[in-house]
Amino acid sequence: GGGTPFKVYTPFWRALNAGPEPREPIAAPLKLNDGSARLVSERLEDWNPLPIHPNWAGGMQNEWTPGEIGAHERLEVFLDGPVRGYADDRNIPGEASTSKLSPHLAFGEITPFQIWHGSRSVKDAPARDVEVFRKEVAWREFAHHLLFFFPKLATKNFNASFDAFPWGATDPVKLKAWQTGQTGYPIVDAGMRELNETGFIHNRVRMIVASFLCKHLLLDWRLGEAYFAEKLLDFDLAANNGGWQWASGSGCDAAPYFRIFNPYLQTKKFDPKLEYIKKWVPEFQEFSYPKPIVDHEFARKRCLEVYAKALKKENG
Ligand code: FAD
Repeated sequence: GGGTPFKVYTPFWRALNAGPEPREPIAAPLKLNDGSARLVSERLEDWNPLPIHPNWAGGMQNEWTPGEIGAHERLEVFLDGPVRGYADDRNIPGEASTSKLSPHLAFGEITPFQIWHGSRSVKDAPARDVEVFRKEVAWREFAHHLLFFFPKLATKNFNASFDAFPWGATDPVKLKAWQTGQTGYPIVDAGMRELNETGFIHNRVRMIVASFLCKHLLLDWRLGEAYFAEKLLDFDLAANNGGWQWASGSGCDAAPYFRIFNPYLQTKKFDPKLEYIKKWVPEFQEFSYPKPIVDHEFARKRCLEVYAKALKKENG
């Protein structure tokens, strides 16, 4: 209403919801007049682009059928089933309760307009579940909105107070332990191993591993962002940056710096039967798992002190 960009999600969502309804998707063109029919070309398949020895794409193939057909099938399957209960179940990483549309969106194989209007036709699903799903799709829009209006976000803290944060010292040993899923925290390790093997990681676990890197290890969110960018099938500059700046506390509308995810409590709440952990960390045994690379209570206190000091200094 004031003519300035939104910086907070909730008013963004309210404005989006207040209408007018996002436009209908545009149908595909019947034919393309780009002249390509006259170009002599080799067949893509003759270049043998798919990996065979080793087939490093194995884990990804189970997650994703690239292409528009796969994208629309994925939406249909989701709207036929898992959308019922989505509002609560979307936080449970051990259950296949989210749409897994993100790689398709990232490659432009389906559009937010198609998802928005497609989800209108679900008749027998609780309205709350459909609304929460649409709200998630709107988070992606919000992330793009922010990056569009604040391009500095791509490399800099949105909240300049964080520029004073002593993130400089990189600890390659700790970073490697995080990247390879060897932190001694089963939920963090499970997430990173899911990422390394499949190119995907559940949203709840993304938040946990990101918070762990920034707050338990005090490593720069940009290191985590870069690793995700390298590994994620759904890599999207705006959504990834939004997620990382949210987790570190440096973004607009971000998690406050004193909110530090406790990996044990997160596990108790969202993976109580340890289904997700046991899937990705098969060697996990409660009493013989390697010791954490940093003690939770120690890390929590250290983080609060370092953040409070840095932010106080910046704010004078
Ligand atoms: P669903 O729960 O089915 O949600 C439907 C769609 O809504 C998703 O496909 C996605 O397009 C959008 N969405 C859901 N949550 C978010 C969110 N928090 N922010 C923005 N869009 C969202 N998402 C990406 O697409 N690419 C990224 O590179 C990316 N990096 C992330 C990094 C961090 C640190 C965090 C915390 C989140 C990141 N996300 C990213 C957001 C989110 O984790 C994924 O979009 C989601 O897990 C994809 O799974 P899904 O399609 O099954 O989601």
